[in-house]
Amino acid sequence: MNSSAHYKELASKYLVGNYGERTVVLARGKGTRVWDADGREYLDFLAGISVNNLGHCHPAVVAAIQKQSAQLMHCSNLYLIPQQAELAEKLCNLSFADKCFFANTGGEANEAAIKLARLYSKTKFGPGRHEIITFRNSFHGRTIATITATGQDKVQKGFEPLLEGFHYATFNDLPSVTNLMSERTCAVMIEPVQGEGGVTAVDNEFLVGLRKECTARNILLIFDEVQCGMARTGRMFAYQNYDVEPDVMTLAKALGNGMPISALLTRSDFSEVFTPGTHGTTFGGNPLAMAAGLAVVDTMVSENIPARALDTGDYFRAEIAKRLGDFPNVEGLRGLGLMVGIVLNHPGAPVIKECLNRGLLLNCTMGNVLRLLPPLVVTREECDQAVDILCEVLAMDEIRSSGENQ
Ligand SMILES: *Cc1c(COP(=O)(O)O)cnc(C)c1O
Repeated sequence: MNSSAHYKELASKYLVGNYGERTVVLARGKGTRVWDADGREYLDFLAGISVNNLGHCHPAVVAAIQKQSAQLMHCSNLYLIPQQAELAEKLCNLSFADKCFFANTGGEANEAAIKLARLYSKTKFGPGRHEIITFRNSFHGRTIATITATGQDKVQKGFEPLLEGFHYATFNDLPSVTNLMSERTCAVMIEPVQGEGGVTAVDNEFLVGLRKECTARNILLIFDEVQCGMARTGRMFAYQNYDVEPDVMTLAKALGNGMPISALLTRSDFSEVFTPGTHGTTFGGNPLAMAAGLAVVDTMVSENIPARALDTGDYFRAEIAKRLGDFPNVEGLRGLGLMVGIVLNHPGAPVIKECLNRGLLLNCTMGNVLRLLPPLVVTREECDQAVDILCEVLAMDEIRSSGENQ
């Protein structure tokens, strides 16, 4: 391993600049800790944006990948992959679903959901019924279809013309959705907890109302659980915090704990329109990714990870409320379980930088919402350490004063 400076030089010379400047060069991880190329240790309260939910290099996942990579890594979906059938069974048994399709990324799983909704609607109700309602401040991916689904200008800008037939409602505002519903609508897609959109959880009452409207009009209700699924919110799936089930759910980020893998879960009455030849992927559901997914799901179940996330999440939230609640620059606490947002009255970027200097990784969404997504195996002591650092940073004069004129 060379120094961080060496890799930064290589990157600025050879890598496309779409990610902006990266100050940290990560080389290694274990549990809730990561180390940079110069050997400096960090407490990781971002977990690859809720990917490493079992912590970095979880031994069960490492062993599964090592074993499978020496057996069969890829063979095409022209052949039946045993681990794919096994993982589908487990995910169906844990959820509302009875059918599963595997892909590689969150964006791809959402693409599959959009295609399924359109095809289902066309097959059942005829043409002209292809519109999809999503929400402002949502995030559904970076492909052309999923940036169109994403209700944020900054994600769409410059890539026009976008896909036809998407409309944006206001999160937690039922009339804003029903106003957009028509005989042309085939689906509503929503994140139960908006991740990129400021760590905002949906209200139960709104979701129950939305479910009713969708059912009454034969509109598919799609939950994008790419970020909030896989035990993050204290339940295996975020929708289990609510009195509602979706028709389609997408998963990705934490499903492989770092191995790229995504899934679309649905019921057979909807999935039956995906007949042979209608949809597919080369890499999706390959034996290596499936082995990782199986290890993740088995570990989450056997180690009671959802309950642990709920318990630690309650503790972490209570500590944040107790120790940061009276800070003049802290406006509120958002999210569910170990999906935590701290709303500031000033930009979050300088806070992220100061936390980094003190060895804590986190990030910021919507400009002023600190986003904390620690591995779900994080301890109370590690939560205390993170709160210690946040207290120190949020009390700094130059940080606090940035909010005074806002
Ligand atoms: C990250 C994310 C996506 C996109 O996933 P990719 O794997 O980057 O394509 C989609 N939806 C949500 C809610 C996400 O957080």
